[in-house]
Amino acid sequence: MWIFLLPEIVKKVLILSMTTQTQKNWRWWASWLLWPILFGGAISLTVLGFAGDNPVLTFNIIYLSLATILLVLELVMPHEKTWLANDGQTFANLAHTLLSKGVVQGLIVFGGVIGITSMVTTVADPGYGIWPREWPMAAQVVLGLICAEFGLYWAHRIAHEWYPLWRFHAVHHSVTKLWVINTGRFHFVDSVFSIALAIGILLTLGAPLEVVTWLSAVTAYIGLLTHCNIEMRFGPVSWVFNTPGLHRWHHSRDLREGNKNYGENLILWDQIFGTYFNPDRRPPVDIGIAEKMPARFVDQLAWPFKGLLKSR
Ligand SMILES: [Zn+2]
Ligand SMILES: [Zn+2]
Repeated sequence: MWIFLLPEIVKKVLILSMTTQTQKNWRWWASWLLWPILFGGAISLTVLGFAGDNPVLTFNIIYLSLATILLVLELVMPHEKTWLANDGQTFANLAHTLLSKGVVQGLIVFGGVIGITSMVTTVADPGYGIWPREWPMAAQVVLGLICAEFGLYWAHRIAHEWYPLWRFHAVHHSVTKLWVINTGRFHFVDSVFSIALAIGILLTLGAPLEVVTWLSAVTAYIGLLTHCNIEMRFGPVSWVFNTPGLHRWHHSRDLREGNKNYGENLILWDQIFGTYFNPDRRPPVDIGIAEKMPARFVDQLAWPFKGLLKSR
C-alpha cells in the first residue's frame, strides 16, 4: 500500500528542498513545459515501440505510464484543488472506459468477420482510394488526424446539438470534476458513434492500417492529457491541439461556453466552423449538466434510453 503514499512523499521532498521563490519558478516552468514534454515523450517512445517486436505491449506500457505520471502530477500541482475530492464516480468511470473499449474492440473483430476491416491494408499493400501512400508515414499520420478529426468533430457536435444523442454523451458530461480517471467515461453508444464516423472517413479514403493505429495512439494520449487536473499553461499549443485549457470550457454548465471546442485531438475544425473558444480567464470550477444523472454505472447505462423521446 506504500505505493499510494509515493506521490505525497515526492511532493513533500520537493517542497522541503526548495525555497518559496524556487518553488514558484519551478512551477512556472513546469506548467509551460509539461504538455509538450509529456505528449512529445509519449509520441517519441511510440515511434520506437511501433518499430520493435511488440508494438501492442509497448503502447499499453506507454499509455499506463503516462496515466500514472499524470495521476501523480495531479496531486503535486493540481489545477483545481477542490477536484481532488472523491466524487464517488471512480468505479463508474473505469467501468464505462472498459465497456466502451470492449464494445469497440468487439466491433472491430465483427468488422473483420464480415469483411469491413479487410478494407484496411498495410502500407506495403497497394490499397485503394485516393490515399497518398507514397507520402512519408509522419505526413500520412498528420493527414489521417486531420481527416478523422472531421468525423470526430461532427460526431461530437451532433451529440451536443441533437437531443437523442446528447442523452448518451451526457454520461461523459455529468461529472463534476475533471481528472485522468474520467478520460474514458463514455457511454458505449456514444463511443461507437464517434469512432464509426472517424474510422469510416479513413476507410473511405483508403488510409492504411498504420495510419489508423497511429490515430488510436494519438487519441489515447491526448484524451488523458485533456482531462487531467494539472496546472499547465498552453499558449500556441491551444491553437493546434485540444488541451486541458480548452476542454475545461467544453465541460462548462453554461452552454455558451460548453457547446464549444468539440475537437478531440486537433482544434482545427473548431477554428474553421466557428466553435473555437479560448478566452483569457479561468474556466469554471462548477462543471456538469442540467439533468440529474444516476450515480450507479448500470443506471447510467440505461438512463439515455429512458429519455430518448422526451424533448429537451
Ligand atoms: Zn462533449
Ligand atoms: Zn471531456
